[in-house]
Amino acid sequence: MNQIQSSHHSSIEHDFIRNKLLEKKAELTTRLDQIDITIHTPLDPDSSEQAVELENREVLNYLCTEAQAELSQVNEALWRLENNCYGSCSQCRQTIPYERLRVYPYADKCIACEEKT
Ligand SMILES: [Zn+2]
Repeated sequence: MNQIQSSHHSSIEHDFIRNKLLEKKAELTTRLDQIDITIHTPLDPDSSEQAVELENREVLNYLCTEAQAELSQVNEALWRLENNCYGSCSQCRQTIPYERLRVYPYADKCIACEEKT
């Protein structure tokens, strides 16, 4: 198979990042499941804490949206890894430094381009 390498990262680096992404994915999936259970637990109509409960649910909805957005970024990064287009900036096509990817594994822009947006 003739694979075109779009980045200069080694396969060891990619393995590290893949594991990191999979860990993150598992963590987010668990978090979303827990939020889902809480949101779908009916409110106790006799509870004096109903206002607090409703407020909590608003926070949960927000957290849910955030986790979903993060999860889709993680999935996109995994997709890029599988399809050999991981690690280059989506704007300028330069290789994103591994140091950046290690802390922010689903980055799809280099620091320079990220700062421009
Ligand atoms: Zn760039």
